[in-house]
Amino acid sequence: MKYLKGTQWMEPYVASASRLVPLHRVVNFKAFRVPLNKTIQTDGSCQPLDEKRKRMTISIRLWTSNDKRTRHAPIPLVEALDSLAHELAHIKQWEHTPKHTRLQARIMKRFSEVAQNLGVKDMYMRNYNV
Ligand SMILES: [Zn+2]
Repeated sequence: MKYLKGTQWMEPYVASASRLVPLHRVVNFKAFRVPLNKTIQTDGSCQPLDEKRKRMTISIRLWTSNDKRTRHAPIPLVEALDSLAHELAHIKQWEHTPKHTRLQARIMKRFSEVAQNLGVKDMYMRNYNV
């Protein structure tokens, strides 16, 4: 499991979900931004690397996509974590079922505990490296 550029801060959050989802299936975590001239709103993705979805890549959008289309800014921590929880839940629940939503919520609960332990005071901060 590799944390590619800009995603290293996710490590303690991801680790907290180890009992909820089979993390060994994730090959790497990536951060991406949507080009300023594009209006696509994708918050993240969980891309299978094989047909049986045994290995996957999780990508999370960490920057605003249309900040007046002049610049990118990091999105608030709570939004990045919500996307991460959503994509992690897909490892176990592939479809957008109520079960997927429930798992996402359980992962978010863990994330909130990690944030508290890390001393995060403001979940809307845009600097993830506390
Ligand atoms: Zn989804």
